[in-house]
Parts: sequence; C-alpha cells; structure tokens
Amino acid sequence: MQNYDVLVVGAGPGGSSAARFSARAGLKTLMIEKRPDIGSPVRCGEGLSKEWMHEGEIKPNQHWIADEVKGARIFGPSEKKAIVLRAEKAGNEVGFVVERDKFDKEMAAFAAEAGADIWIKSPALEVIKENGRVAGARVRHNGKMEDVRAKMVIAADGFESEFGRWAGLKSIILAKNDIISCVEYRMRNVDSDPDYTDFYLGSVAPAGYLWVFPKGEREANVGIGVTITAAKDRFDVKNYLDNWIKNHPGYSKGKTIQYITGGVSVSKVKDKFTLPGLLLVGDAARLIDPITGGGIANSYISGKYAASIAKEAIEKDDFSQEMMSKYERMVKDKFERKHLRNWLAKEKLATLSDETMDKLVDVMSEVQVNDISTQAILEAVQQKYPELMKELEDLI
Ligand SMILES: Cc1cc2nc3c(=O)[nH]c(=O)nc-3n(C[C@H](O)[C@H](O)[C@H](O)COP(=O)(O)OP(=O)(O)OC[C@H]3O[C@@H](n4cnc5c(N)ncnc54)[C@H](O)[C@@H]3O)c2cc1C
Repeated sequence: MQNYDVLVVGAGPGGSSAARFSARAGLKTLMIEKRPDIGSPVRCGEGLSKEWMHEGEIKPNQHWIADEVKGARIFGPSEKKAIVLRAEKAGNEVGFVVERDKFDKEMAAFAAEAGADIWIKSPALEVIKENGRVAGARVRHNGKMEDVRAKMVIAADGFESEFGRWAGLKSIILAKNDIISCVEYRMRNVDSDPDYTDFYLGSVAPAGYLWVFPKGEREANVGIGVTITAAKDRFDVKNYLDNWIKNHPGYSKGKTIQYITGGVSVSKVKDKFTLPGLLLVGDAARLIDPITGGGIANSYISGKYAASIAKEAIEKDDFSQEMMSKYERMVKDKFERKHLRNWLAKEKLATLSDETMDKLVDVMSEVQVNDISTQAILEAVQQKYPELMKELEDLI
C-alpha cells in the first residue's frame, strides 16, 4: 500500500499542472498515467494561445514550439472573405502551434522537478472510498495491483474520463450535441500560411469547423470537428475532411504523415465536478472552450486551482463537499461566463445557413479588428444586411 497526500490520475496538461503545484505546495504527490509515453500518441490540433501562460507559470520554449502565428483567419463557407483576428483576440487555440508530445512531457517534467512522483503505464482501475469520501485508487503498476491511498484525489483523466463516474458523479455525462468528433491529418508539402491559423465554417464541417494549423513552412495540421449528431459515423467525419482537401489544390497535393482521431466536449460548464476527496480538472471536468474546442490552457489553469484547494483541504483536515465546492467556484468564476457565451454562440452558429454565415463573415471582415465589439458588428450588419438583424440578434 502506498500513502500520498495527493494522487493525480492522468498526466495530460491538467494532471501535470495539478501534480506540479501540489508538490510545490509541499504535498506528497503521485501522478499516474496509463499510457507508456506521456504526450503520445498526440490527439490534438496543437494550437495554443499565449495569454494564460503567465498564470500557468510557463515560459514558451522553442523545444515545443513548431510555429508562432500572428493571428487567425476565419473563412466563411464561400471562402471569399475571412475575418482576420490578432492572436490575442482569437481564443484558446491561436498563438503557437506546438509539438504536443514535447509540450506534455515538459509539463510532466515540471511536476517531477517540483517533487512529484510519476508512474507511467499505470492505470487507475478502481476508486477507493472510505467513510463516504474518495480516498485513493487501485492502480496496476509494474504488473501488480497497488492500493494508493491519498487524502485528496485529482482526476485529470481527459475527455474519456471514467474516474469521476466510477466515484459517483453523474453530472459529467455529455449530451450528444455537446460532443464533437474529430479527424486530423498532419500534412507535408501543403500551401498553408505559417503566419495564420485558419478556420473554415459552414457546411464543410456541420456544427463544427475545419482547421489548418501551420507547423512551420509547408507543413500543417489539417483537421475537422463535426458534432456527432450531424455525422453518420466517424467515416462520415473523415469524408468531410477528405472532400475539402480534394477541392483545395494547395492541400490535395500534400502527403499525410500522421492520422489522428479524437473526441472533444463542447458543453457548458457542468454544475458539479467534485465529490468529497475528489476534484476533476480539465477535460474530465468538461472545461474545453465550446466554440474553439481548445482545452489545454483551461486544463492547466484548473489543475493549478485544484492543487490550491487540495492544499487547503489537507491543512484544515476538511474534505467535505463544502470545501470541494470552493474549487468549483474558482473554476466557474474563471471560465463560466465566457463558456456560456461561447456555448450559446456555438448553438446558434449551428443553425445558420451557408448564405447567412457568409454575410456574417463579410460584415465582420470589414469591421476594424481592434474594434470588434458587439456595437461595431451590429452597426455594420444594420448597414449592409439589415434583413439579418433579427436572425443574428441573439447571436450578437
Ligand atoms: C483532435 C483534437 C484536437 C484538439 N486540438 C486542440 C487544440 O488545437 N488546442 C487545444 O487547446 N486543445 C485541443 N484539443 C483539446 C485538448 O487536447 C484537451 O483539452 C487537453 O488535452 C486536455 O488536457 P487534460 O489534461 O484535461 O486531458 P488529456 O490531455 O486528455 O490527458 C488525460 C490523461 O489521462 C490519462 N488517463 C486516462 N484514464 C486514466 C486512468 N484510468 N489512469 C491513468 N491515466 C489515465 C490519459 O492517458 C491521458 O494521458 C483537441 C482535442 C482533440 C481530440
């Protein structure tokens, strides 16, 4: 039997952050990861904004940066016009395009340097509960079952998270329209622009979008996310991507060097993602931005918050639901407002025809980027397409 103050399940960005800040706070910390290689296989577009890094205490490192972009271009369905946004205005996925496997490994290395123990190839298979609270996990480690007891467990086990459900959390289950199915190719010899991350909206990617995230010259992640209610199956999602590539000579001549699939949650922030002794972070807590699908930054920040509450709970010997709810409040104060706004926008965008979407992009492409306020957009729509005012009212 192993005894720790904090057990972190999962070594993605959320887990590595929780482990780093728990260990740095002087807590005896273990992070376990079921895969044999942290950060691999990659399932990510690898777009990452810069704004959160100060709070996350991360310095950009050329080791994991593949490209630095000026901003984002958001194309309407006809691709005649694009909204051009500076990186700092363009959300969670715009700033750097990273090498995700290297990034995740460096985040785990920070946790190790802070003093956390790390077990790889060690899945949590069961929750240990004691006196009505989560008190550890049964883990397969080096071919043996180990009971790891911990005062606090932080579950950072990602989109397919099971730990919270095993512990009894029903509220993290997703509605079908809040799940996006993704397919992505890393492509070589393509005409991507290394200065921009590109997004394509409309029926090319129903209720989602298609992306081109450059990885330096002539290489890019070309991917698509489609809501599962709009796709027959995952081959359907791949067909959407293949069709777009086929119709774009700058990409159809490219060669695929990696093929990625995965799921993303695009829900509102859930009401409950804690239980006595248990905090969920990152994708496990459904903290992905519903409009961009970017979740690395939110995972990392939520891991830091979880560590601070774990520290307080252990110091006060208080593992009650009330204490855990403090973490929920911190996360909601940080993310909920923007999340809800983006979730509503996502729902609305899914209902717009290609024609309306083109008009919206047309209008917004002409609004000065510095000025991309609701007021400025409203005035531009009113002037150019007054017939759209009613339809776009709630979106805007
Ligand atoms: C196709 C695709 C493209 C994306 N593109 C972007 C993007 O461009 N930018 C962006 O910001 N976000 C993107 N995301 C989302 C981003 O990848 C996630 O939000 C981010 O990885 C969440 O970090 P996390 O630490 O919460 O979870 P994860 O990174 O998923 O880490 C969870 C870890 O837990 C481990 N684990 C699971 N169960 C157990 C268990 N029982 N025991 C031990 N370990 C376990 C897993 O192996 C995994 O390593 C994308 C996602 C997909 C699928």
